[in-house]
Amino acid sequence: MTIDQYNFNGKKAIVRVDFNVPLDENGNITDDTRIRGALPTLKKILADGGSLIIMSHMGKPKGKVNPKMSLSQIKDTVAKYLGTEVKFADDCAKASDLAASLKPGEVLLLENLRFHPEEEGKPVGIDKADPAYDAAKKEMKEKQKEFAKTLASYADVYVNDAFGTAHRRHASTAVIADYFDADHKMLGYLMEKEVKAVDNILSDIKRPFTAIMGGSKVSTKIGIIENLMDKVDNLILCGGMTYTFAKALGGNVGKSICEEDKLDLALDIIKKAKEKGVNLVLGTDCVAADDFSNDANTMVVSCMEIPAEWEGLDAGPVTRKAFADAIKGAKTILWNGPAGVFEFDNFTAGSRAIADAIVEATENGAFSLVGGGDSVACVNKFGLADKVSYVSTGGGALLEAIEGKVLPGIAAIRG
Ligand code: AMP
Repeated sequence: MTIDQYNFNGKKAIVRVDFNVPLDENGNITDDTRIRGALPTLKKILADGGSLIIMSHMGKPKGKVNPKMSLSQIKDTVAKYLGTEVKFADDCAKASDLAASLKPGEVLLLENLRFHPEEEGKPVGIDKADPAYDAAKKEMKEKQKEFAKTLASYADVYVNDAFGTAHRRHASTAVIADYFDADHKMLGYLMEKEVKAVDNILSDIKRPFTAIMGGSKVSTKIGIIENLMDKVDNLILCGGMTYTFAKALGGNVGKSICEEDKLDLALDIIKKAKEKGVNLVLGTDCVAADDFSNDANTMVVSCMEIPAEWEGLDAGPVTRKAFADAIKGAKTILWNGPAGVFEFDNFTAGSRAIADAIVEATENGAFSLVGGGDSVACVNKFGLADKVSYVSTGGGALLEAIEGKVLPGIAAIRG
């Protein structure tokens, strides 16, 4: 079932959204992107004449009630965007009466799901090494089913619009779907968009396909790099991992971030790229600094010859051009991870060159997907978010999807 096919008239819909928005110390929302992202789904349900039960997590309360992470703090903002009053259930597991009394067009927001350990389904207060852990886990999984069943009992139909948590098998993101048949569970509009974007990158590829992987370490990106190796024409590896490659190739990288235990892995990636005919683009020159700070002294130097007390913090001009050349002609582009310490204004040039090239390619008809927290922060910092095809809201979920893993939140609905 798709959300467009379903008529919510007279039905109660329970919708999992990601309203895990950042709050300041007074509980005011500092960025409401995630709330706005879910509005098309929520509004469609109300416009059809349905009633709406909204559920989300906020923060990591670890199974305990924590007023600082109460969703009551965002109730008024949700009401403002929906243009209607929002009722609030103080305990998401005891909302039967409130849910039952909802009339068409009415909205109920449930308190933070993660105030209950059953949401995540992990036993609390017991170490994994404890011999009793397995039994505790089994018991918790049973409780998780009960909790999911309770949530399911509030509604006629379940909608999942929380891509950010789709890689977790939690009560509200996956287990709950077992209590609805295929005609009464569906992805929300935001989820549909995310899934479509990932599809464009993984299956519906227009060539050439250029992937840009940056960030700090090879080790955290290796699964994705390996999966992409079978798909891309050009693979740009940049950011902190540049120096693990330079070192593996016999270079001196000074104090640059470098994973000494991943040198063989780096050589293996180079070998695999050759075997598969992938054009691997690595940094050749860098902007090195004599301190990890925005005001450090800098020089442009070969990535292979960084003086002992210096560290590479950004891509150099030759590298930036090589990156841009591999991006501009592409028809499919994926960007995850910055090319330098972009948080420091003086070390944004590499990431900026990538962002500009992606914008140019997109203007020329490429499909470009930017995802993963830091690259999204990058395009936002450069004010270019609306000039790429799609900016994903998912961090971990997007990366797991690109690795080729099945996301429990999506599988639970699509089977
Ligand atoms: P990740 O979370 O692995 O995607 O890494 C993102 C972080 O990598 C950002 O905070 C960047 O500042 C950092 N980063 C990028 N390039 C470098 C570099 N050359 N040295 C140290 N950190 C870097």
